[in-house]
Amino acid sequence: MTPTNDELFARAQAAIPGGVNSPVRAFRSVGGTPRFLVSARGPYVTDAEGREYVDLVAGWGPAILGHADPRVIGAVTDAAARGLSFGSSTPAETELAELVEQRIGPVERLRLVSTGTEATMSAIRLARGFTGRDVLVKFAGHYHGHSDGLLAEAGSGLATFALPGSAGVPADIAALTLVLPYNDLDAVRAAFAEHGDRIAAVIVEAAAANMGVVPPLPGFNRELIELAHANGSLVISDEVLTGFRVSAAGWWGLESTTEYAYTPDLMTFGKVIGGGMPVAALGGRADVMEQLAPLGPVYQAGTLSGNPVAVAAGIATLRAADASVYDALDRTAATVSDAVSAALSAEGVAHAVQRAGSLFSFVFGDDVASGVTDYAGVQRQEAFRYAPFFHAMLDAGVSLPPSVFEAWFVTAAHDDTAIGRIVDALPAAARAAASARPA
Ligand code: PLP
Repeated sequence: MTPTNDELFARAQAAIPGGVNSPVRAFRSVGGTPRFLVSARGPYVTDAEGREYVDLVAGWGPAILGHADPRVIGAVTDAAARGLSFGSSTPAETELAELVEQRIGPVERLRLVSTGTEATMSAIRLARGFTGRDVLVKFAGHYHGHSDGLLAEAGSGLATFALPGSAGVPADIAALTLVLPYNDLDAVRAAFAEHGDRIAAVIVEAAAANMGVVPPLPGFNRELIELAHANGSLVISDEVLTGFRVSAAGWWGLESTTEYAYTPDLMTFGKVIGGGMPVAALGGRADVMEQLAPLGPVYQAGTLSGNPVAVAAGIATLRAADASVYDALDRTAATVSDAVSAALSAEGVAHAVQRAGSLFSFVFGDDVASGVTDYAGVQRQEAFRYAPFFHAMLDAGVSLPPSVFEAWFVTAAHDDTAIGRIVDALPAAARAAASARPA
């Protein structure tokens, strides 16, 4: 007999803390049993009970082409047949670095790592080593992975659980992180006025998408960089989530053709750059990047960095992601977010659609119906409306991110059939959101 999701979760909880290997997967904020997935193809995922769902999580971002795209699977299979891990240089690593550098002007050198957490952690060490300063500025609700200094008022799982940070982070380390409200240049000016000569770097999501989606106000990224540079600090633009997803050159690419074009010192990438395999990267100014070992004094290393099978998936994904893929992502994002918004309006649920390129999410309630620009705004919403909405969609065979504080992810494989299934599920979900009451 095939085990049910309930049985699999019970067994997992006895073997793995909370039954999961990353907290948001546990469904804590929406309740119920996580689905144990066994396969994925195109816009669909299938659970252990054999049930298929239209997927709007996309592996938390990487699957822009859709799941198990034959071009990516073929590249991975070919690479795996030649050996899984060499612990040595490969031609493919340079190819991937060149692909990124050709697309993204500020990236003059690129170092591959395995996770977004490693990328941001290493970028911060590099910024500290380069400037000889210690203090880091981040923004409330921005998530940059789970390294010690970054778990202060972070988004993603921490927003979901409303934790102020994390146990196990020494106070002395947290004290080196200054947390400011997002989109608030006055707060940035004040921080530099008070601590300017101690600030090594500002780290910022290029467009925030880990507290739900909160795009930067026009010119925010550019002015942030000007303020930092005037004070001798670097800016790390974190594109782990937005990179190669919102355009071929990420969020930087979207703004680079506007009057708000900006040039960060360092950038971080993850998710799409590995096409579903563990690849992430930090890149940027050659003079800064060349402070990394073996050229410079800032140490950074990894047994699996540039793993040949993972790099093959990344190259195949980036090469396949042509203009038609980004057009499809934009079109599907508009269709789905418009349909959700219309269904909520039809049931009288006050809400706003939050968009950053093809990333989107929703905030609920009259107080936020004109949209939000920071973490305080996100937290003002009627978050209790999301769980019943989520479960109604899941019951109808649509898998959404299991938290209101996460972006929704579409893929280029979401065709009319998949979108039709989403649209058909919406009226009942909107009714569930309308009748929700605070706990
Ligand atoms: N930075 C951003 C903007 C992210 O969205 C994430 C993960 O969601 C990370 C960093 C951490 O990446 P990883 O989960 O690969 O460690």
